[in-house]
Amino acid sequence: MMKVDIYQKLGLKRVINAAGTMTYLGSSRVSPRVIEAMNLILPEFVDMRELQQKAGSLIARATGAEAGCITASAAAGIAVATAACMTGSDLWYIEQLPDTASMRSEIIIQKGHSVSFGAGLAQTIRITGASCVEIGSATQCGCYQLRGAINDNTAALVYVASHHAVQSGLISLQDFCAIGAEYGIPVIIDAASEYDLKGFLACGAQLAVYSGHKFLGGPTSGIIAGCLPLVRACYMQEKGIGRTMKVGKESIAGVMEALEQWLQRDAGAIRTVEEQRIDYAFDFLKQFKGIHVERTADPTGNPVTRLKIHVHPTEAGLSAFELCQLLAAGNPTIRVRAHEADTGSFQLDPCQLLDGEMELVCEQIQRNLEAPVHPQLESTNPADLSYQSLIRWPD
Ligand SMILES: *Cc1c(COP(=O)(O)O)cnc(C)c1O
Repeated sequence: MMKVDIYQKLGLKRVINAAGTMTYLGSSRVSPRVIEAMNLILPEFVDMRELQQKAGSLIARATGAEAGCITASAAAGIAVATAACMTGSDLWYIEQLPDTASMRSEIIIQKGHSVSFGAGLAQTIRITGASCVEIGSATQCGCYQLRGAINDNTAALVYVASHHAVQSGLISLQDFCAIGAEYGIPVIIDAASEYDLKGFLACGAQLAVYSGHKFLGGPTSGIIAGCLPLVRACYMQEKGIGRTMKVGKESIAGVMEALEQWLQRDAGAIRTVEEQRIDYAFDFLKQFKGIHVERTADPTGNPVTRLKIHVHPTEAGLSAFELCQLLAAGNPTIRVRAHEADTGSFQLDPCQLLDGEMELVCEQIQRNLEAPVHPQLESTNPADLSYQSLIRWPD
C-alpha cells in the first residue's frame, strides 16, 4: 500500500519539531506498536471498567504506586485528582461538584508553581469548584507560609514539577510532601512532562499526574498514579465532572502500549542519537557571527540535552525572537523552544526530530542569518502575539 502523505492530503504545512513534546504541535510521534494497539481495540467492544483495571495494574507496575487510571489528558488528570481530594469516594459529593458545600475545597499551590502550560493550572483546578490558594510570591515561598495557609478547609496541596515553574526560592518537593503528611493532607504532583515515573510518589505524594502524549509517546491521554482510595475517587469522577473529559478505549489501549514500550526502551541508545544531533547543531551554528551556542541540561533533570542558542541582535542582524518567528513562518514550518526568545535565546530540542531534520533546521537558521530581515511583528510579547493570532482564527 502506498503511504499517504497526510500533509498533502489535508493541505497542511509540514512541521519540523525542534521544540519538544508540544501539545500545540501534536505532542509526540506515536510508534507503530502503539498505533497497532489502538487499531486492534477500535473495532471491538470492551468493558471500559475492566480496561481501566488492566491499565491500573500496568501503571502500578511502572510507577510503584498502589493504583492508577487513565484520563483524557494530564490537565484532565489534575482536575479529576483535585475533585477526588474534595469528594473522596462519596458519590453524593461527586455528583454535587462544582458545588463544594460541606466539602473541603481549598487547594494550596505555591505562586511560583501557578504556571500556564497553554492554559492556566489554577483554572484547571478551579473548574472542579475548588478554590486555588496561591501562597508566597512568584519567586519565593517558605514552609511557614504553607503551614500558615493550611486549615480545616484544605483539600489538597498541588506541587508542579516542570520547566514552566520557577526553579529556585520555593519549597522543595521533600519538604512539601513532609508538611502534607504532617497535616494529613494529600499532595498532588503535576508531573505532566517528567520522565521520572517513581520519584514523586516515593517522596510521599499521594497522586502523581503524567501526560500520556508527551515523553511517553502515547495518544492523547493522562495517567494518574497513587494510593488506592484516591485513585478510586479519581476513577469515580466519571460519574460527575470527569464525564466531560472522557477517555476512549483507543487512548487507554494506546497509552498502555506506550508505557510498556517506555519500560523496555534502550534509554542509552536514544540519548546517544539525541546527543549526536545536538553535537551536529553545535558545530554547525558556532561559526556564525552574533551567535553563541551552549549545551544545556533539562531544568528539572529529565535526561535530555538541548542546544541553547544566544542571538546578539546587532551582530547577528536580527533578534532571537525575530529568528524564531522567521523559522516558524517558513515552509516547512520549523518550531523551536522559543519560550525565552524575548530574552535573547532559544533552544533546539532533539527528541522529536527525524534523521536529517536537524540538518534542515541548521540550514534554515543559516539562511536567515545570512540574509537577515526584520519580520513584521504585532508584538514581541509572547502572550500578546498568541492573542493576536487567536482572534484571527480561522485565518
Ligand atoms: C503539558 C502540561 C500539562 C498538560 O498536559 P496535557 O496532557 O496536555 O493535558 C500540565 N502541566 C504541565 C506542567 C505540563 O507541562
